[in-house]
Amino acid sequence: MATISRIKALDPTVINRIAAGEIIIAPVNALKELLENSIDAGSTIIEILAKDGGIKLLQITDNGSGIDENDLPILCHRFTTSKLTKFEDLTSIETYGFRGEALASISHIAHLSVLTRTRKSSCGWKAIYSDGELTQQNGSNDPIPAAGKIGTTFTIEDFFYNVPSRLRALKTANDEFTKILDVIGRYAIHCNNVGFSCKKFGDSHYLLNTRPNLPIQERIRAVFGSSISNDLVQIDIENGFNDLGVKRVYGQVTSPNFNNKKPIQPVFFINNRLVSNDTLRRALLSSMNRFLPKGHKPFIYLSLSIDPRNLDVNVHPTKREVKFLNEDEIIDRICLKVIEELSKIDSSRNFSTQT
Ligand code: ADP
Ligand code: MG
Repeated sequence: MATISRIKALDPTVINRIAAGEIIIAPVNALKELLENSIDAGSTIIEILAKDGGIKLLQITDNGSGIDENDLPILCHRFTTSKLTKFEDLTSIETYGFRGEALASISHIAHLSVLTRTRKSSCGWKAIYSDGELTQQNGSNDPIPAAGKIGTTFTIEDFFYNVPSRLRALKTANDEFTKILDVIGRYAIHCNNVGFSCKKFGDSHYLLNTRPNLPIQERIRAVFGSSISNDLVQIDIENGFNDLGVKRVYGQVTSPNFNNKKPIQPVFFINNRLVSNDTLRRALLSSMNRFLPKGHKPFIYLSLSIDPRNLDVNVHPTKREVKFLNEDEIIDRICLKVIEELSKIDSSRNFSTQT
């Protein structure tokens, strides 16, 4: 009796589309990848434009290095990168990117095009991608010369046009936009030498706008408003904890005078990567709680620089979760420092109310 085999190899396009969906779940994931690419490219100005929460259109323009015309044919291939050459480099990687997966993934689940110009090119180049490859424009697949400033603009249109289930799983345009603005705001706080701006398509006013080299208080003000930026306490452990592989701890937290009852998701960066770390978050909140009136919530921005060998950035596809060595001890010591700084304010406040 003839047997019917039911296991078949998937078509490569399908495989790629599924793999892309692991990395790009919503427009905000693409945005974060593109922001990081722009920062990796040495940009000092990054402008973002979004339509329908980035689902219809997400455009990121930077003034970075630009991409060489010769690199355009493989730009969106999977695992093509200018940043990592051998596996060992992963332990010392200082750029955000290293896997060469982001652009490839985006090209598998949306329409992607690029306009780019390097300093040495006399004109810009425009290229359109589909499923990892250059695709037709004006009757040819080749990039075409175009007017353009030095830097790069990526345009993503129609997210998940070819994966309807993913499209349905997205939140409303407003919710998706909120996520986008939140991520831009976090980078705007952390990246002191980059100015960020964000607009909605068809609306001339900025929802966020920072200039490069603003002081930290001004960056926080631009993103979170004056009530937070007027009440900040600096945390700075410049020489870190060398025994634990920590080079520097820098942060800004709100003082006990900050009057707020809405929880604010802390802004954590580790080696310049936007991360979330629940242990750190909970430890800080409970350390700060003793200084705050009941029900009040603080704002926390914290940036850790640790020995890259102690940090594993490759634990999660979205790179959002990171693990590092000596986590518990490091967190304990950071909390002690925060308590020390807040105690100073608390005692001066008690003092001033007594007199
Ligand atoms: P990765 O960042 O992991 O290298 P990506 O798919 O995000 O992978 O990008 C692939 C390559 O494209 C990068 O290594 C870089 O050389 C180039 N690139 C991407 N975005 C930009 C940009 N905004 N400016 C200059 N080069 C870029
Ligand atoms: Mg990248």
